[in-house]
Amino acid sequence: MNVPFSDFTQMHAEIRPALNEAIARVVDSNYFIGGEEVSAFERAYADYVGVRHCIGCGNGLDALHLILRAMEIGAGDEVIVPAHTFIATALAVTYAGATPVYADVEPDTYCLDPDRLEKAITPRTKAIMVVHIYGRIGRFDEIEAIAKKHGLPIIEDSAQAHGALYKGRKAGSLGVASGFSFYPGKNLGAFGDAGAVTTNDDTIAEKVRILSNYGSKEKYAHILKGVNSRLDPIQAAVLSVKLHSLDRWNDARSEIADAYLAALKDCGAVLPKQDQNVKNVWHIFPILVENRAELMAHLKANGVQTLVHYPVAMHLHAAYRELGYHVGDFPVAERIAAQEISLPMFYGLTDGQLETTVSAIRTFMQKDR
Ligand SMILES: *Cc1c(COP(=O)(O)O)cnc(C)c1O
Repeated sequence: MNVPFSDFTQMHAEIRPALNEAIARVVDSNYFIGGEEVSAFERAYADYVGVRHCIGCGNGLDALHLILRAMEIGAGDEVIVPAHTFIATALAVTYAGATPVYADVEPDTYCLDPDRLEKAITPRTKAIMVVHIYGRIGRFDEIEAIAKKHGLPIIEDSAQAHGALYKGRKAGSLGVASGFSFYPGKNLGAFGDAGAVTTNDDTIAEKVRILSNYGSKEKYAHILKGVNSRLDPIQAAVLSVKLHSLDRWNDARSEIADAYLAALKDCGAVLPKQDQNVKNVWHIFPILVENRAELMAHLKANGVQTLVHYPVAMHLHAAYRELGYHVGDFPVAERIAAQEISLPMFYGLTDGQLETTVSAIRTFMQKDR
């Protein structure tokens, strides 16, 4: 049996007529930048997240970068970023002209470790960027207490956490502002690149909107040095259709995760920890094993495709050599980078595909002991 890492077939089959109708509506409107399709999605997504503002933009990296620019964080400033995340989190800081300063993540949540955070704060620190990695929120209360103590704003990178909850509050509503990506493979994915900023802060919202549209509110009146990073109506129309099903798709991912957790219990792999304060939306189902390459090869031989998110810890990327970090600086992030495997996780994964994946893992782990 073939088990792909991800597959949109069932997801899109179920909403095909609505998607076709939405795309046709945009074509018929003769309107391809901005307009009512974009505003309608922005309102719907702000309501979904539970915030006053949602501003569509080109992608998740831009969303984070635009937030930092709107907050006037730039040259000479530092932003704390977890040592385990996708490179975009740090690149957004670099784009803004500031410097990313890494802090290690926790072994239980893989999110920013509040116990490591405080040591990374310096007089130049201007914000803390939390990342809800793999679809779950970390120890937010503790991070917020440290942020308050130091008078620092928290920015959320919610690119993997559409619909995730922390004590009943949605990802995207916890910090001063949040960046979302609608990259096709995310839990809420467009048919290309797309992103958004969510916030309750009127000033940040207004500035993000201006910055994302060439620094102008009125055509040709450029009051800031902005960029071109807008959500296309065609993507907005697709996202509006998909948003109706997001909770249902997240629930299906949750069932798959529960089945993995039950079936892989005691097999020797490190499994994700559950936390009753947190609703995980399982963007990724990560396991940690010591012999990753061998297990991935064994799974591949059994028709199961797996991926690694991500094989290099942030502080060890060649692109950031100038920051001067070394191997051993962030041991938890380095361990995840060395041992993580992402199992197949998508709406429509069948019981048979799950069983194939699980039994291949169990066979390998037994032999390996
Ligand atoms: C996907 C992702 C991004 C960037 O989103 P793009 O839309 O690809 O620019 C940022 N942060 C994290 C954690 C992501 O997973």
